[in-house]
Amino acid sequence: MTKTKEIIETGWNLDNSYARLPELFFTRLEINPVQSPKLIIVNYPLATSLGLNADALESEDGVAVLAGNKVPEGSLPLAQAYAGHQFGHFAMLGDGRALLIGEQITPLGKRFDIQLKGSGRTPYSRGGDGRAALGPMLREYIISEAMHALGIPTTRSLAVVTTGEAVIRETDLPGAIMTRVADSHIRVGTFQFVSKWGNDQELKALADYTLQRHFPGAGLGVNRYLFLLQEVIKRQAVLIAKWQLVGFIHGVMNTDNMAISGETIDYGPCAFMDVYDLKTVFSSIDVNGRYAYGNQPSIAAWNLARFAETLLPLLHDNQAEALKLAQGEILNFTKIYHCNWISGMRAKLGLFNEEFRDESIIEDLLTMMQKYQADYTNTFRDLTFDKSSDSSLFSSDEFSLWKKLWKARLSRQQESKASSHKLMQSSNPAIIPRNHRVEEAIEAVVKQGDYSVMERLLDALSSPYDHSTKKDDYSTLPEKLDRPYRTFCGT
Ligand code: AMP
Ligand code: MG
Repeated sequence: MTKTKEIIETGWNLDNSYARLPELFFTRLEINPVQSPKLIIVNYPLATSLGLNADALESEDGVAVLAGNKVPEGSLPLAQAYAGHQFGHFAMLGDGRALLIGEQITPLGKRFDIQLKGSGRTPYSRGGDGRAALGPMLREYIISEAMHALGIPTTRSLAVVTTGEAVIRETDLPGAIMTRVADSHIRVGTFQFVSKWGNDQELKALADYTLQRHFPGAGLGVNRYLFLLQEVIKRQAVLIAKWQLVGFIHGVMNTDNMAISGETIDYGPCAFMDVYDLKTVFSSIDVNGRYAYGNQPSIAAWNLARFAETLLPLLHDNQAEALKLAQGEILNFTKIYHCNWISGMRAKLGLFNEEFRDESIIEDLLTMMQKYQADYTNTFRDLTFDKSSDSSLFSSDEFSLWKKLWKARLSRQQESKASSHKLMQSSNPAIIPRNHRVEEAIEAVVKQGDYSVMERLLDALSSPYDHSTKKDDYSTLPEKLDRPYRTFCGT
C-alpha cells in the first residue's frame, strides 16, 4: 500500500490484536466506499489525546478514512461476531453496520478501538442495510461526549461524516458514519457468542485476551477467571450507579449492549430523565418498561448472570462448584452497586460522613420528588444553591420538614458549609443533555445545515459542573406538550 503524505501526518498508529484471536470471533472485510463523504464534526481534544492530528483528519484523505473510503496504514478492518439477549431473547448478532479498523496506540501507550459505525453491510447484517442516518449518529456524538464530561465511563466519538447517500427509513435520510472510540468492543454478548459456538479453548482465548487488555492485575495463585468476573461486576456496579445518579436511561440494556470494559456503549434510544420517576421509559420499542430507569440495576445484574454463565467452564472443574462461585459474585453486584449509589447520593446532598439514617433522608426526598413531579437535575441544583424554585415540591410542608432534617444532618458533620456546597456543586450537574435541546441541535444540522446550535450545546455540555448563569438557558424544561418524550432506535 502506498502511504499518502496526509495519512502519515494524521498519526495513525494502529495495531490489530483482535485480528490475532481465533477466526471464529470476527470476519475480515474490505472497506465499503461511499459516494461523496463530507465532514460534519471532528472532536479535537479526543483526536489530540489519541495522538491524531485533527487538522489532518479534516483533509481529504483524513475524511476518506473516516468515511471508510480509504484504509489507513496498519489497519486490518474487521466486523466482530457476538450474540445477545435482546429484551430477554437470545439471538446471534455481530457488527451488522460497523467495522473495526484497528486499535490506536496513543502516545501514552494506551490502546483504543477505532470503529466506523454505519459503514455498510457485513456478514452479520441480517436484513439491515448496514448504514446509519445522520440524526442518530449526531445523537450518539452529543450524548456520549456529555457522558464523558459528566465523568461517566463511555465510548467516545471522534467524528461524524455524511456519506452523500440516502438511507431509506420511513423517509429518505442523509446517511452518515460515526467514528467510535472505545476501550474495546468486547461485550457480554461476545462471551455469549463464544460460549455457544466456540470450544473451551476459544472461550479461554477470549477470557485471557480480556484479562490482558482490561484487567491485567490478576495476582499469582488466584483464580483468574473468577477475578475477571469480579472485576467486570465491579465496573458495571460503578457504571450503573453513575447512570442512576445523573438520571441517564440507556434504553436498550440488551446483553450485546453491555461492554466488558465498563463503558457505556451503543447509544440508541437513550435519554436523560427530566421529572423524577422510577418508571421512566423513553424508548418507543420498550413497551413493557423492561429497561425503565428504576429497573436498570436489576437488569445489569441479570446481564451479569448471563456473563457468569459463559465463564462456568473456566471457573472450576466441578460445574456445581463453578455455579456456586458465580452465584456468590452476582449477589455481590447489588451490594457494590448500592454502596456506590448511596455514597454518590450523600455527595449530592453535601454529606461527607455516614450516618445510619442517611438512606431514609435520601429515599424521603426521592419519594417527594416523584409525588410532586419534580425535575431530577434541577431539584438537586436548587438544593445546592439553597434556592427554592417555584415548584410544588419546594412549597410543600413535607419538603420544609425534610429540609430542616437535612440541614440538621449537615450541621452534625465536621466539614464547613462551604465544603458541603463545593461537594454538591461537583456532584450535581448544572446541565445535562435534555432531549428537547439535543433534538433542536440535530434538527438544525440535518434540516438547515446550521451547526451553530450543536456547537453551542456541545460547548455547554463540556463543563457540566460549571454552575455559571450562562448555562441557565439549558436548564429549562420542555413544554408539557412535548412529554412524554419518545426516542427511537433510529437505525
Ligand atoms: P443495536 O440496536 O444498535 O444495538 O443493534 C443490534 C444489532 O443490529 C447489532 O448486531 C447491529 O449491528 C445490528 N444493526 C443495527 N442496525 C443495523 C443496520 N442498519 N444494518 C445492519 N445491521 C444493523
Ligand atoms: Mg448494539
